[in-house]
Amino acid sequence: MEVDYLIIGSGLAGISFAETCLLHHKKIMVINNASQNSTTIAGGLYNPIVLKRFTKIWEAEAQLAITIPFYKNLETKLGTTFLYEIPLFRKLNNIEEQN
Ligand SMILES: Cc1cc2nc3c(=O)[nH]c(=O)nc-3n(C[C@H](O)[C@H](O)[C@H](O)COP(=O)(O)OP(=O)(O)OC[C@H]3O[C@@H](n4cnc5c(N)ncnc54)[C@H](O)[C@@H]3O)c2cc1C
Repeated sequence: MEVDYLIIGSGLAGISFAETCLLHHKKIMVINNASQNSTTIAGGLYNPIVLKRFTKIWEAEAQLAITIPFYKNLETKLGTTFLYEIPLFRKLNNIEEQN
């Protein structure tokens, strides 16, 4: 079988690339073994703030503009919900942080 992309690993990276390929009508083959399990045990948290400095991560808006529709499409495709927006609280350590 002829494919456009052979994807080794179906963790978060492999799945994201595979889904992107399918969105672009590419033929793919995915090969996965069970040697690693980061994706299946991860907390699943994405956070646009560097908590240490309270600044946005690199290209936060651009990254979220891609990430959120991508996962929403995946939810629709799979008929499930896994994207939950939750508020982020930061405990203020001192008066300088408060100001
Ligand atoms: C406890 C824990 C909690 C985490 N929580 C978060 C979090 O809240 N938020 C966050 O953003 N990140 C989190 N992470 C990090 C995140 O899980 C990883 O960065 C991400 O899952 C990595 O995805 P990946 O596809 O690169 O790798 P993996 O998930 O490791 O997927 C790689 C896949 O390739 C397979 N594979 C490897 N070699 C071969 C081969 N030769 N042939 C075939 N298949 C192969 C592996 O078996 C695996 O299935 C967490 C990680 C851990 C360990």
